[in-house]
Amino acid sequence: MREICFCGRVGEVEDREPVILESGEQALECPDCGDMDPVSWLHGEARMGVFEEAAERYARRIPAVALSAGSQR
Ligand SMILES: [Zn+2]
Repeated sequence: MREICFCGRVGEVEDREPVILESGEQALECPDCGDMDPVSWLHGEARMGVFEEAAERYARRIPAVALSAGSQR
């Protein structure tokens, strides 16, 4: 799913970094400008699917060492 961030970044929304906001809401952070997108334009399973895909891609990007060090779940 491609998107254009207001910072000019063009890419797939699933390539953003999954984060948890202070409110406890899930959001996807733009790797370029740090914009937090709660993906509020998606709902239900479609939204969950985007976060799952983003989490998977994020896990694939960071080395296994970083994975075992940070158990923030
Ligand atoms: Zn951005």
